[in-house]
Amino acid sequence: MAISDKMTDSKSKPMIVIIGAGIIGLTTALRLQAQLPSSSTDILLVAKEWPTSIPGAPPSHSVDYASMWAGAHVRPIPASTPQLTREAAWLKTTCTEFARQVEKEPSIGVTSTKGVEFLDNPPKDYAAQTKESFEKETGLVGYRRCNTGELPEGAKLGYEYSTYCINAPVYCANLLRKFIARGGRTMQRDLRTEWEAFILRDNVKVVINASGMGFGDTKCFPTRGQTVVTDLVEATRTVTRQNQDGSWSFIIPRFFAGGTIMGGTKEPGSWHAEPNPTQRAKLLKGGNALTKYATDEAVRAPQDVNVIADVVGRRPTRDGGVRIQVEEKQLTGRDGELRTGHVVHAYGAGGRGFEISWGVADEVSQLACQVFRDLIGTKSKL
Ligand SMILES: Cc1cc2nc3c(=O)[nH]c(=O)nc-3n(C[C@H](O)[C@H](O)[C@H](O)COP(=O)(O)OP(=O)(O)OC[C@H]3O[C@@H](n4cnc5c(N)ncnc54)[C@H](O)[C@@H]3O)c2cc1C
Repeated sequence: MAISDKMTDSKSKPMIVIIGAGIIGLTTALRLQAQLPSSSTDILLVAKEWPTSIPGAPPSHSVDYASMWAGAHVRPIPASTPQLTREAAWLKTTCTEFARQVEKEPSIGVTSTKGVEFLDNPPKDYAAQTKESFEKETGLVGYRRCNTGELPEGAKLGYEYSTYCINAPVYCANLLRKFIARGGRTMQRDLRTEWEAFILRDNVKVVINASGMGFGDTKCFPTRGQTVVTDLVEATRTVTRQNQDGSWSFIIPRFFAGGTIMGGTKEPGSWHAEPNPTQRAKLLKGGNALTKYATDEAVRAPQDVNVIADVVGRRPTRDGGVRIQVEEKQLTGRDGELRTGHVVHAYGAGGRGFEISWGVADEVSQLACQVFRDLIGTKSKL
């Protein structure tokens, strides 16, 4: 993928800069393109790291580029707090877009499949879910409670529903291609602060900060995730178990030749970047115990399931959830003149970036368009 750093005919066009080529920056960029005509606006995506998806090639991304390490599946969480309610609405919007993509863009990297969940110690909000409440909250259909005989030993609650799996690197690379094909501009840069983006071009009006963790926000922290990519290609369903001890076991098929993920840890505040062999053994044990729920085919013995790669990624988590907010600051121009810079923040998606992406992108792009239109003075110009 060529990363262009050129300005051609667009010097005079007002520009929006998006920092970040993760799932939040990419979906926001595409939503902005749909709202602002390229004849009168330039959109520039700036990032330190970019999506790549070359089957069989070793990944070369840092642990901080979360979007390359995600499973990824849609696994709804009951909307039992204000933050979860906000996220549930975003998830519902995202599922509508995934349904459209599965139908209209079948090679983009999203696959419709069945999700199966088991809980050893179900919290009240999971136990209280019904087919009606689940489907209303998520937009996902096919909710069905498992009979006791269908549960693995030790599990107290189980259910299934129609959901989506995303091959994260393939999907992100395809979103980036779409952005470029629609006239989007790209630049590789490691920025010191979101405010630095205003000096990248002469006519930057608004900057969107979709940098994952933000720049020094003390509410942000990593949630380390270790998983294992295996060759369990016969898995066609995503299965999740919330274990008695609070740990998680899951299987996520990465359709489009991406193997199958067995995971995974959720370690708030852990910066450890290397795979831990003890954790790996536990993940494989938990994953292999679930394989019979992930496929209708004969189940392979654990020793016959091969590891393709160990994965460690840092989920960009933020107390209070995603920050979507406009911030203004006085900036000094090249000739010393003062101007006000406007940044729209869009970071802190934690462990849910893919499943809430299009809902977040809608909200961020609408906010950014509003600020942008106010700044350039007139809606009729667009
Ligand atoms: C193991 C694991 C499993 C996961 N499973 C799921 C799942 O099943 N479902 C789900 O929905 N989510 C899942 N997630 C979470 C998901 O990956 C994240 O929520 C999502 O990727 C966050 O996207 P983002 O765009 O905010 O950040 P990122 O993907 O981290 O992207 C940040 C972007 O900003 C750029 N950037 C950062 N700093 C700078 C700088 N200084 N200058 C320039 N550019 C910069 C980066 O280079 C990158 O392009 C999982 C995560 C992990 C680690």
